[in-house]
Amino acid sequence: MPDRIHYQELGNGITCIDTYLDRPGLAACYLIEHEGMAGFIDSGTSNSVPILLQVLEKKGIAKESVAYVMPTHVHLDHAGGAGELMQLFPNATLLIHPRGARHMIDPAKLEQGSLAVYGEEAFGKMFGRLTPVPAVRVQETEDEFELDFNGRKLVFLDTPGHARHHYCIYDEQSQGLFTGDTFGASYPELNKGKNRFIFPPTTPIQFDPAAWLVSLDRLMSFKPERIYVTHFGMHENLPSLLMLLRSTIESYADTAQELSDSNNREKEIEESILQSSIDYLTDQQCEVDLTTIKMLIGRDMELNAQGLEHWLTTL
Ligand SMILES: [Zn+2]
Repeated sequence: MPDRIHYQELGNGITCIDTYLDRPGLAACYLIEHEGMAGFIDSGTSNSVPILLQVLEKKGIAKESVAYVMPTHVHLDHAGGAGELMQLFPNATLLIHPRGARHMIDPAKLEQGSLAVYGEEAFGKMFGRLTPVPAVRVQETEDEFELDFNGRKLVFLDTPGHARHHYCIYDEQSQGLFTGDTFGASYPELNKGKNRFIFPPTTPIQFDPAAWLVSLDRLMSFKPERIYVTHFGMHENLPSLLMLLRSTIESYADTAQELSDSNNREKEIEESILQSSIDYLTDQQCEVDLTTIKMLIGRDMELNAQGLEHWLTTL
C-alpha cells in the first residue's frame, strides 16, 4: 500500500485509479459512476483492493452501490483483486468474457499459469492471493452484449489478440473505450510533450497478431474519441497511436519469425524489440535517459519476448 493514493477524475463520471503495481503509473483501473450506480473496470491485484476502497470512501460511494466488477481479461494485473472485491461488494455482479469465467470461479489454474510466467517470489509480491468468485455471481458477456448501467449504455466486445479471454467496453456517453491491453500499453513517462510511445503487450500465451489487428479495426469502427488503457491512463490522439501500435504488432511478429532459427531466440527477440523501442524513442527526441527507459520497459520486453517465443511454438 503506497503512502498516498493517486487517482484522477477524467470527466463523464470516470476516475482513473493507480493500482500501484510495482511502481506508480504502471497499472490503472477505472471507477465508473452513473446516477448513483458504480462499477470498476479492471480490479488491480488483491494488493490494490485497499486503494480502491479508499477511493470509494473519499468519494462518498457506499460499497452497496457497486453493481459491477468488470475485469477486461483474466490476467492478474486486471483481475487478480476481483474475487476479493466481490466479497466486499454485496450487490455486485462479476462481468467476464466467457473464456475467462471458469478461471474466476476456480482460480487455481490461473495461479499456476502466472507462477510459471513470473516465478514464485515476484508472483507473491505483485499479485498477493486469489479469491474464487461464487458461480452464481458471475455473468458471461457474449460479444456485443449491451449493459444498461443505470441508463448508460456499455457495449462489450470480444477482442482477441493480446488474450482470447479479453473484452473491451465501449461507453456511449464518453465516446470512450476501456481497452485493457488490446489498445497497447503507453506509460506517462514516455508520453511527454509531442512524444508518443505505445507497444503491444504480447505477454504469454495467447498473442495472435492477425486477430489483434482485426480487433483494433473493430474498436475503431465505434469512432472513439478516447481510450482508457490499463497501462496507463486516458489517451486521445488515437490515429497516431493506432498507426504506431499496428506497425509494432507487425514488426514484433516479423522479428520473432526472422529469429526463429536461432538457438537463443527468446533472448535475441528480447534484445531486438528493446533496442527498436530505444531507437524509436531516441528518434523522437524523447528526453528520458537510457537507464530510465530500460527501467520503464525492460521487464515488459522480457515478458513480450516470452510471449513471442511461445507464439513461435504454435506456428
Ligand atoms: Zn495488463
